[in-house]
Amino acid sequence: MISVNLVYEYHKFAGELLSWFFSIPNHEQCWLGRRMKKYNFGIFCILILWAGTIAWAEQIQYGIVDDANDKKTLLLRDYRPKPMLHTEVHLVQRPKFPVIDVHNHVNDAMGIDSERLPPAKVVEIMDHCGVQTICILTGMWGEQLQQVIDRMVKPFPGRFMVFTQLDWSKVNDPNFSQLMIRQIRESVKRGARGLKVLKDLGLEVRDSSGKLLPVDNARLDPIWEECGRLGIPVAIHSGDPEAFFQPVNETNEQYEELVGQPTWQFSDHQKFPRLPEILAAQKHIFLKHPHTTFIALHMASWPENLDYVAELLRRCPNVAVEFGARQAELGRQPRRARRFFLEFQDRILFGTDYTVSEEMYRNHFRWLETGDENFEHWDYPSLGRWMIYGLELPDLVLEKIYRRNAERIFKGFRGTSSGGGQ
Ligand SMILES: [Zn+2]
Repeated sequence: MISVNLVYEYHKFAGELLSWFFSIPNHEQCWLGRRMKKYNFGIFCILILWAGTIAWAEQIQYGIVDDANDKKTLLLRDYRPKPMLHTEVHLVQRPKFPVIDVHNHVNDAMGIDSERLPPAKVVEIMDHCGVQTICILTGMWGEQLQQVIDRMVKPFPGRFMVFTQLDWSKVNDPNFSQLMIRQIRESVKRGARGLKVLKDLGLEVRDSSGKLLPVDNARLDPIWEECGRLGIPVAIHSGDPEAFFQPVNETNEQYEELVGQPTWQFSDHQKFPRLPEILAAQKHIFLKHPHTTFIALHMASWPENLDYVAELLRRCPNVAVEFGARQAELGRQPRRARRFFLEFQDRILFGTDYTVSEEMYRNHFRWLETGDENFEHWDYPSLGRWMIYGLELPDLVLEKIYRRNAERIFKGFRGTSSGGGQ
């Protein structure tokens, strides 16, 4: 393009000069005319060359652009491209069926959610966007648990549930299992309706020799059994996204998330087990305790590998999964995810793991209910610089995922009457 333009401009300019030169009237009459006639050909050649040089210089502009360097240093975190795609947008104000969010930390005992909301405000948000019940998973135990129950559960019947946790500070006590069984029974008496196990089991909790306690450590077996006896689910989070176990460099798809959260980096395999190793231990306890119901949080911690999760669910009928903070992962593989949701429609629970807000819930409803394309997941861009696609689930499946599956699990509660309360 440049060379064609150049030739064209050059000829145009040279042509104009030529016609000017021959239009000078009566060369003999003036000094300039006489000189021109004398050096006719030489002047003409110089003019043509000069015109060519100007045309050339005007066409190729490789000079320095003042703000070029500023443009080159746009940081990844500032890059928010707006899709120019024209797509249908179906915002879902309220879900088709009332929702139970089984994975939340709102006003919990640990302060996982940095933002504390007035309890009545939380209920108002829930009412506005069709959320019937929220499970507060990190309720701890003892007095701290009691505070969550008094602040959130008791004043709003049916709107909140709370789970208890294990006290890992006692892990090296020879009676750890018995201590925890007693603690769980006491928590259930106070009102807890499940046990939550954070990812620190398998990645952080160490025995007295300093070794990481594997998820399937035999000392924990009586605890899982007790939960089965009480009829409370064990909501367990083991491992983390696959990319958290990879080196943090330009090839890591969770680069932005990991540079912001250095404690989530588990790529040093001298210090941490690999993800499949952790998940094998998790599967081991699912198989070993078939009378205990497990909620494998974050899509059994491997939504990047739904074939694995499918196989896990086929082998372990006592396991359900929930998708808290994994919407991005599922939303980027809508066809595989939809097949998965249809096949395991009785085994998937609605969970978010995000700070409660109307927009957050509506973003999830849009993802589950509509076939909208190429929109931002709730954690964009942190949990992935990609867009998601709606699953357009049938009503029957939606109702199960929104609430029926969770209701069925919580109906299994046998309470302390089965001997657990003694
Ligand atoms: Zn969580």
